[in-house]
Amino acid sequence: MSVNLIEVANSDDGNAYGGNANYTDANDIVVLDNGGTRIRIGHIRSGVLCEEFAIHSSQLLCVPNAREVLVELIRNYAQQYDLNLKAAILGIPALLDRENDIISHCNNIPQLQGRGLRAFLAEELHCDVLLEQDIMLQLLGEWKAGAARQQNSVFGVYFGTGIGAAYLLNGDPVNPLVQDIQAGHFPIMAEGKICKCGNTDCVEAYASGHTLTGLAVQAACPVEKLFEYRFEDRWKARLHDELSQFILYQAYVLATVCTMFNPGLLIVGGGIPLMAGYPRDELIEKTRNHLQKPHPATTLKISWASLPGIAPLHGALALLERHAGNSSSITQVNRLS
Ligand SMILES: [Zn+2]
Repeated sequence: MSVNLIEVANSDDGNAYGGNANYTDANDIVVLDNGGTRIRIGHIRSGVLCEEFAIHSSQLLCVPNAREVLVELIRNYAQQYDLNLKAAILGIPALLDRENDIISHCNNIPQLQGRGLRAFLAEELHCDVLLEQDIMLQLLGEWKAGAARQQNSVFGVYFGTGIGAAYLLNGDPVNPLVQDIQAGHFPIMAEGKICKCGNTDCVEAYASGHTLTGLAVQAACPVEKLFEYRFEDRWKARLHDELSQFILYQAYVLATVCTMFNPGLLIVGGGIPLMAGYPRDELIEKTRNHLQKPHPATTLKISWASLPGIAPLHGALALLERHAGNSSSITQVNRLS
């Protein structure tokens, strides 16, 4: 009976939470970071962060029964590490309607779109489930334990398979004023290049991992070597020019979001800036060149993401703490009424 009462209270709070409250002894958290290319699964056991992640291809989820595959991935992982699950936290590369448990704009894994994923996972896994936009989960991690600590206004841009962005104000990932910022999908050119979202000429079509994959094919070069080969004498001048343009378009993204939102701190992350030979200084210089002088061109604080890999674990802790705070205040309101 007590379990039922608590479950009712959870569903009443109207946010992205649910599951089995019968977890008195459960103290472990599984964190699934679902990017456009890879799924990384890690855990937090009684507050201690894991050091290694299980890696799978995101293609595993590009199937009609993607939800069932997700359940199996998490269930198998929990069994492998003998976890007693209190919660599962998932970063999803999509837009989330937390209140109605709806996922949309999941361009790389459209099979996850639709209603009811959180509720389904909670019921199948018998634990609480929280979904968060993948970039926001990373940014929350930086805010809790990394380069964005003590920062009330942080804009994160992550260059990976696509271009992910999130704006975190006062550590609140669900601030409705700055939700669903799709910084990869503003148009910049008039060449008619198709974006993964279906539109043409989104900046993501010119400045993301998709772009690099295309360049690597054209140049018959391993994609991970592109920036190293750029400087080799034998390499063609054309690729050098293409990659210079690529960095310029990435700088356009950073300059645009900073011009519009004027954040206290800009965090730049994702897999592309971590590639061998990636010209970080060039990106920052080009970004500042396109900002208004003198402010914010010279004053904008820019940091690289400092917790690649473990940021989603810290983000998961921040999310759970935030939710715990919300739940207690909601319970209080319910009692008063
Ligand atoms: Zn687009």
